[in-house]
Amino acid sequence: MKTMNILYQSTRSNMEAIPASQAILQGLSSDGGLFVPITIPKLESTVEEFSQMDYRQCAYEVMKLLLTDFTEEELKTCINKAYDDKFDTKEIAPLIKQGNGYYLELFHGPTLAFKDMALSILPHLLITSAKKNNIKEEIVILTATSGDTGKAALEGFTDVEGTKIIVFYPKNGVSAIQEKQMITQKGENTYVVGITGNFDQAQTGVKNIFNNRELEKGLKDKGYIFSSANSINIGRLVPQIVYYVYSYAQLYKEGQIKKDEKINVVVPTGNFGNILAGYYAKCMGLPIDKLICASNENKVLFDFFNTGIYDKNREFILTSSPSMDILISSNLERLIFQLTGKDYKKTLEFMNDLSAGGKYEITGQMKEQMENIVAGYASEEETAKVIKEIFEETGYVIDTHTAVAASVYEKYLKDTGDDKKTVITSTASPYKFPVSVMEAIGTKYKGIGDFDLVKELSNLTGLEVPKAIAGLETADVIHDVICKPEEMEALVKEILK
Ligand SMILES: *Cc1c(COP(=O)(O)O)cnc(C)c1O
Repeated sequence: MKTMNILYQSTRSNMEAIPASQAILQGLSSDGGLFVPITIPKLESTVEEFSQMDYRQCAYEVMKLLLTDFTEEELKTCINKAYDDKFDTKEIAPLIKQGNGYYLELFHGPTLAFKDMALSILPHLLITSAKKNNIKEEIVILTATSGDTGKAALEGFTDVEGTKIIVFYPKNGVSAIQEKQMITQKGENTYVVGITGNFDQAQTGVKNIFNNRELEKGLKDKGYIFSSANSINIGRLVPQIVYYVYSYAQLYKEGQIKKDEKINVVVPTGNFGNILAGYYAKCMGLPIDKLICASNENKVLFDFFNTGIYDKNREFILTSSPSMDILISSNLERLIFQLTGKDYKKTLEFMNDLSAGGKYEITGQMKEQMENIVAGYASEEETAKVIKEIFEETGYVIDTHTAVAASVYEKYLKDTGDDKKTVITSTASPYKFPVSVMEAIGTKYKGIGDFDLVKELSNLTGLEVPKAIAGLETADVIHDVICKPEEMEALVKEILK
């Protein structure tokens, strides 16, 4: 079979279609839209073939279908550099059967969250893309983070030649461990800034900087171009498709499913990047039946999938799953584009409504096409309850984000009786959120500090404290800059002066 050449277009205009490497370099389209593949290719290997592959081989077979302007050697080099012993298990993404689901552990990378799955490869894709396109400028990565992206991006880009990385995080909106991970980041080319606002403000600030043509021109003259490490970059989405295919193949290999048997997938969701990769995997022919979108109390997606109305006008709630505390799920735009039948005009209208009034309503026809996406949400109480239950029944400890998914799945199972084999994407290590996790397990852990709880968690599970956490308590703080959301642009200029 000859692999189809795939080009990318914006969700908001019919500007010239571009190859993957250019879409990766630009991050966001200059019209404000997101890049999407014009056609979604079909998987070319069978499940038997996939089940014989290790993670890297599987990554190559999947990613080559979407990054068609990369040569075999380029792509394999990127994959080999990314999925190496930075991950603490050879399997890279182990699938653990526990209770009524299969937990796909995506947190074995250097920062203990699923962001590592994509951010360990993005720098290599980006550098390769720059070479392919004869880019001479230094690439400045601007990133807004709700906690996990920032550290994973910093790890990925630290001391990568030809790049600088600037991370903005909500000063009071991330866990203590998340913050410590970021502000102790080493590397000559790294900058970490706390903003006195929430994640949406950080994300909006970054998008505004991207869309500022004057700033762009000024910096280009100084030898800089911007790109993004957020999941708006297609270079993050494509690597995430891999683990859906890989987990399906593992289920098959272990005799848990028959060939072509449909499975369900539950994804704890914030910016809609992870679940969108699952949606693309399904479009590529992976036998996924229901995609179950799990939200925390910021349940804007739950309301959207149930009513067809996206409405961000509501209170922003800080929860125990901070990486999902998001009211503007950027990647939903890519689904909207798909549901309109790839109509960029309609997509633009919806997005204009969103930025003007914080709200839009999709058509009945579009709603019908979402029947395979089910949405649920878990309250703070439910999230804590499921952590305790699973621990007491099985000894397995899940983090708060994964717990949101586990709780939503439990309710789904009870309501529908749909007992298809189900993969729950496990997006963070419990070590990353020790306070919420341990308080859920027992009230006696209340009031104890993060790092003492890390030790308690290790005692409880018998698992060694991960390297990424072990040295953190005593690490030196390197970054202490704080600014207001409206000062972000000035700060970027100052850094690049
Ligand atoms: C980022 C993140 C999520 C949300 O993923 P999206 O792709 O933004 O929907 C969930 N859990 C954890 C631990 C994360 O870091």
